[in-house]
Amino acid sequence: MRQSQLLLPTLREAPSEAEAVSHQLMLRAGLIRQLAAGIYTYLPLGRRVLRRLETIIREEMDKTGAQEIWMPAMQPADLWRQSGRYERYGPELVRLRDRHDREFALGPTHEEVITDLMRGEINSYRQLPSTLYQIQTKFRDEKRPRYGLLRGREFLMKDAYSFDESWEGLNTSYDKMYEAYHRIFSRCGLRFRPVEADAGTIGGEGGTHEFMALADIGEDTIAACTHCQYAANLEKASYRFVELPLQNETSDIAELEKIYTPNARKIEELVQSLNIPSDHILKTLLFQADGKPVAVVVRGDHEVNEIKLAGLLKASELELVDQATAEQLTGAKLGFAGPIGLSIPVIVDYAAAQVQSGLAGANETDFHWKNVRVGIHFQIALLGDIRNAVPGDGCPNCTEGQLQMYRGIEVGQVFKLGTKYSEAMNASFLDAEGVDKPIIMGCYGIGISRVMSAVVEQHYDEQGIRWPLELAPYQVHIVPVSAKDETQMKAAAELYGSLIAAGIEVLLDDRDERAGVKFKDSDLIGIPVRIVVGRQAAEGVLELKYRHEKEAQQLSSEEVLAAIT
Ligand code: ATP
Ligand code: MG
Ligand code: MG
Ligand code: MG
Repeated sequence: MRQSQLLLPTLREAPSEAEAVSHQLMLRAGLIRQLAAGIYTYLPLGRRVLRRLETIIREEMDKTGAQEIWMPAMQPADLWRQSGRYERYGPELVRLRDRHDREFALGPTHEEVITDLMRGEINSYRQLPSTLYQIQTKFRDEKRPRYGLLRGREFLMKDAYSFDESWEGLNTSYDKMYEAYHRIFSRCGLRFRPVEADAGTIGGEGGTHEFMALADIGEDTIAACTHCQYAANLEKASYRFVELPLQNETSDIAELEKIYTPNARKIEELVQSLNIPSDHILKTLLFQADGKPVAVVVRGDHEVNEIKLAGLLKASELELVDQATAEQLTGAKLGFAGPIGLSIPVIVDYAAAQVQSGLAGANETDFHWKNVRVGIHFQIALLGDIRNAVPGDGCPNCTEGQLQMYRGIEVGQVFKLGTKYSEAMNASFLDAEGVDKPIIMGCYGIGISRVMSAVVEQHYDEQGIRWPLELAPYQVHIVPVSAKDETQMKAAAELYGSLIAAGIEVLLDDRDERAGVKFKDSDLIGIPVRIVVGRQAAEGVLELKYRHEKEAQQLSSEEVLAAIT
């Protein structure tokens, strides 16, 4: 490509609204331009980098046996109602209506669409396992779009979905993706780290890992052990889960206290063995309601921070349940079993309690249990919370090392969804015995446009970007010092021709600009190899400089060709 014809508008200064280095450099290097908050146009160089990323991702996905498809961005709201996410997703979901007043959403992710596809196509275990992926635009009306491509409202994602007969099958599919992610991010030149993570709105019963690119601008904090492999996103409460089985199911409060009190000491010992400050500890009581496990999480001293009633309360209501409420609820319907300085509310009849205390949502469907006696105490577990951990706290995994904190950019996440979507949306298959079973699913995302920014966050200097070779918009930049010098321009054109013939992607700065301007632009856009064609070109001598090195080398054109082809 001849630079005189390329739409490559470089800027000396970064626009003042750009806070992140990657955002500044991507604007200055003429890679992107903003159309609206969190919505960007990719100029030719930016588009080329994005395509390189797509190529790496396609190659690594295809290697795992995953098949590429392409799903619509515009999705019927009905599908989202079937999974229960139409309401739950909240204002981040872009909603619209067609001319017939039918409701639609612009996909922030594609679990619903793919589950709908597969429930129609999969009938038998013989069709499993199967993993499908796409590279597609996603829409999320983020509250705070910022840092350029790092948090956009329209962005490019690779999302993959696996379908298996069994959990063992899912584990295999998950591991393949996990390994592919390692290869992808390594090829992108990223310093990254997989961490244990929280499932967020995607949900699912299995585990999940995030892949974090290490960078100070990152919005996530990673806690990693100095001694073992443990690393987790701080937003995840992920201390060791210690189970203390108690007697199963009783709905008699007196009976409950009898079981519970003698065990309080055991619980206390467990807390101490966790080697973390007691206010970092969550007590989790697992109840059984109508056959479903229900967890009530109590945190710290006398403070009920969070109540998770699996699938029964909406997330927006969690804040409602504070200590005052818990006390209000004490009455006849709630009992307190009080070990280790904590009050743990034990819910006997939650529906009745709600009505009693006038908790919001008591009369709405989906907000509470109807006519359910809660079977109490089928087990108690202690769960450490690292959300308030500070550097130097003990590792929850090995108890030998200490936690260190890093900032990270979430560039990808892998989830074991299990049957969350297949059950809600009725995607099943017949197993070898002819039994109808829900498909076991996994899902796997990479924020491609976010990766592009993350790479810049890790690869730059005062002069500009330093693209890793595999992502660079061009591999070689030829810069003749003077456009008016025929010998130089001829030598540059010849070299340009030979490199292109050798299959190398080359940018030739044929602009009639001062040498200083050309060098500045060249450093800014960050092509890994630069060949300067100057006065010595007449003697057949060229200058070869790698973007990441200070010194240039004087070489003959044959030597230059040998060095880079
Ligand atoms: P975040 O925690 O940063 O909001 P997320 O957990 O909501 O991200 P996922 O639903 O896991 O995101 O989506 C898969 C991937 O898509 C993420 O790992 C991230 O790389 C990318 N991604 C998510 N939101 C954005 C966004 N607003 N802009 C660019 N990339 C994004
Ligand atoms: Mg998000
Ligand atoms: Mg996240
Ligand atoms: Mg995520």
